[in-house]
Amino acid sequence: MRWSYSASRSFKKCQRQWFYKNMVASAKARDPVRRRINLLSKLQSVSAWRGRIVDQVISNTVIPGINRGAPVMLREAKAQARALFDRQLLFARNHSIASFDTKPSDHGDDFCLLHGMEYGAPPTDDELNVAWEEIAQALANLYALDAVKAPLKAADHVIAQRALQFDLMDGVTVISYPDAIAFLDDTPPVIVDWKVHAFGDNDAWLQLAIYAIALARSSHNDFPPDFSAKPDEILLLEAQLLTNLVREHRLDAAQIEETEEYMMSSAYEIACLTEGKKYEELNAADFMPAIHPESCQSCAFRAPCWESAHAH
Ligand code: SF4
Repeated sequence: MRWSYSASRSFKKCQRQWFYKNMVASAKARDPVRRRINLLSKLQSVSAWRGRIVDQVISNTVIPGINRGAPVMLREAKAQARALFDRQLLFARNHSIASFDTKPSDHGDDFCLLHGMEYGAPPTDDELNVAWEEIAQALANLYALDAVKAPLKAADHVIAQRALQFDLMDGVTVISYPDAIAFLDDTPPVIVDWKVHAFGDNDAWLQLAIYAIALARSSHNDFPPDFSAKPDEILLLEAQLLTNLVREHRLDAAQIEETEEYMMSSAYEIACLTEGKKYEELNAADFMPAIHPESCQSCAFRAPCWESAHAH
């Protein structure tokens, strides 16, 4: 089983949602039900979509520019974001899950499915205008945040969205995707995670602590030779790109212990429920529905969940 911080949060919110996303969804399965669930798992709210566009532009344009020693100007980053915004919106408006007969990967960066389009509430022009303004604002703030720019510029090499994984316990692998890892010459690495949240008041230290533990236990060919770092040596930067706030985290022994306990207890709880069974041996009714009925309003799996059982 694969465990991630977002999967643990999904499981807490609604076990059934976790089941759909982590056990049923499959792009490769022959079963059309599983392929449909996979497409549903790709639905995004407008708010999540705008954050993803910011992620894509930073990962695919801004960071490669830093690594080449040819920084990409803000105007160029915004132009890339606008082009992506327009192409993805066009795609979302012209595709519905019911008529989808290709794989998401066939469409590259254009692929985008919006929750509102599928569930009868397409985004309004006002929502889309606000989303675009927030994308432009998030990028402008990134370029002005010295606390984030400094380590990225000083780095020998920056790696974006790298999958870091390690074995947590028997049959459980932790997977995490830090937004950026900056490897510096003479100091331990810096992990940067950017958020595009309107309020930005949730402290993301636990998520970043998981990244630090994962980085300390990982190795990749493009890491510096003989790379090693302890979690408490890694500087963790949480960049709130809409509120223009950078939180700096340095882990102490108690936080590392708390993080390890969180991972173990969450993974254990999930493992106890699934008992190592495969998708074919389980069904949605084995999993508890959402604790709060309002979770269902924004849930991507509302259609199959409510078709199979009236959760709420
Ligand atoms: S519709 Fe509600 S109960 Fe069903 S999976 Fe989604 S959040 Fe859970």
